[in-house]
Amino acid sequence: MKDDDASSSGPAAGLDFIRQIVDDDRRAGKHGGRVQTRFPPEPNGYLHIGHAKAICLNFGIAQETGGLCNLRMDDTNPETEDQEYVRAIEKDVRWLGFDWAERFFYASDYFDRLYECAVQLVEGGHAYVCDLQGEEVSRYRGRWDEPGRDSPYRERSVAENLDLFERMRAGEFPDGSRTLRAKIDMASSNMNMRDPALYRIRRAPHYRQGDRWCIYPMYDFTHPLSDAYEDITHSLCTLEFEDHRPLYDWFLERLAFESPPRQIEFARLNVTHTVLSKRKLLELVEGGHVDGWDDPRMPTLVGMRRRGYPPGAIRDFCDRIGIAKANSLVQIAQLEDAVRQELNRTAPRVMAVLRPLRVVIENYPEGQVEQLDAVNNPEDPAAGTRPVPFSRVLYIEHGDFREDPPRKYFRLAPGREVRLRYAYFLKCTGVVKDPASGEVTELRCTYDPETRGGYAPDGRKVRGTIHWVSAAHARPAEVRLYDHLFTREDPEDAGAGQDYKDYLNPASREVLTGCRVESSLDGAPAGRRYQFERQGYFCVDPDSSDAGLVFNRTVSLRDTWAKIERKTLG
Ligand code: ATP
Ligand code: MG
Repeated sequence: MKDDDASSSGPAAGLDFIRQIVDDDRRAGKHGGRVQTRFPPEPNGYLHIGHAKAICLNFGIAQETGGLCNLRMDDTNPETEDQEYVRAIEKDVRWLGFDWAERFFYASDYFDRLYECAVQLVEGGHAYVCDLQGEEVSRYRGRWDEPGRDSPYRERSVAENLDLFERMRAGEFPDGSRTLRAKIDMASSNMNMRDPALYRIRRAPHYRQGDRWCIYPMYDFTHPLSDAYEDITHSLCTLEFEDHRPLYDWFLERLAFESPPRQIEFARLNVTHTVLSKRKLLELVEGGHVDGWDDPRMPTLVGMRRRGYPPGAIRDFCDRIGIAKANSLVQIAQLEDAVRQELNRTAPRVMAVLRPLRVVIENYPEGQVEQLDAVNNPEDPAAGTRPVPFSRVLYIEHGDFREDPPRKYFRLAPGREVRLRYAYFLKCTGVVKDPASGEVTELRCTYDPETRGGYAPDGRKVRGTIHWVSAAHARPAEVRLYDHLFTREDPEDAGAGQDYKDYLNPASREVLTGCRVESSLDGAPAGRRYQFERQGYFCVDPDSSDAGLVFNRTVSLRDTWAKIERKTLG
């Protein structure tokens, strides 16, 4: 299956509680049996793995039920939104494997309709213009354990409210001097119901509407109406909006929508060793703690794409974690594991030497080159083999040689023999050192020509197999190794006097230059993924140039943190 095919997405086992509700509603013929969901991001940042959960849920339910899913920019906040983010969001949702067809909407396109609805509420005596400001508003609102007090402006006549609201729109009043508020209940135990604001005055150009408006609708007012305008049947949102649901329903009821959407809340995704708040991610970008939204260490979809995470693995991860009603912290190792599982099946194996050590095979003829057969992917017989050149001078991994090998070290050491992957047995006969530093700079070796293919006809065995590249043929490369962005599992739970940034991992990136990769990687395009044998999965970075390929390590072959964490956490 192609990795951008979303048809594999679906609930892992049985129906989660949201799919159960949707299923019940369909059976009961609610909304005429229709299902329509939406994914409503605010274009004030790039999408992250938490959004992926919401995308997979909304688009997934639509796919599974033969319904529809809209993509809507929730863009009513002029200060922070931008077209750059809109484009990035579209690209990321497509990349994840989902399609909204022609159903792409902007809440800002509803400004006229929203205004009309607000007027309707005023006319029905359900909203009023209030002159209380800032501090006063909070004082009148009371506290969770103490009822609020009615605003002195609450009993204005409909005519006066209509006039004032009209003049708010016309720009007669300064920013923040008045609001339009719903007239609900200042004594409600739910703070959201204590006459919430519907409109505020704010002279800020909107990225799409320009200077057309100096009043902007509030999120809680915009959201249910946008859902209703689009005939959404199930409005899925995260848990923090549970207390807003009565307000959501209040608007839809007062405005008498025929088949109003139903809001259902689910738990936000939190992942260990990272943060998933756009505000914090923006802070990391602007503070130069990472190289941008698409830094491969970021939990953003652009970052994960650059890192080499396949979209199918992200969908699998979202399926596996499921949908629940209680917030939880998911191990990042689970995401890495989904990535590993997919890449194990799909990524071709190649040989690359990250920290090269020169090897001269003294009994191999000068100038001779052999083409040896290397298996492209043992998990996929159809992937076939490729020729790799073998010659007198090779590079092997520095770590695959020890002058004084410890017990259980089965790789190369003076006098010891190992297997070169897909090639011959190789024996170390001498060590060349830098006279100044004493560092090993070259090995002198011999090979056994009888062992081509990696087996000795006399039945003699070797314990270690190492990878290599031919020095004359290999290409230079830079390899960037990544580790968790934060050392702490939950950097947001930093404790008093601490900031999540205090837990940034200073070793989250290590750049290796002078690496050597086999020549079959010549011209590999950005985004192509490989397994470097014995080292992990790697992806070609767009920084690659004629001067050399650049690779990002997508994920190591095994979860090395599992051990470390068990140790440090006791
Ligand atoms: P942030 O707090 O990072 O700004 P947000 O919820 O304000 O996030 P939106 O752009 O409004 O960001 O989110 C769009 C949709 O994605 C919403 O429906 C929201 O519920 C969902 N979403 C955002 N973050 C998560 C998350 N961590 N887990 C699950 N869903 C999420
Ligand atoms: Mg939001």
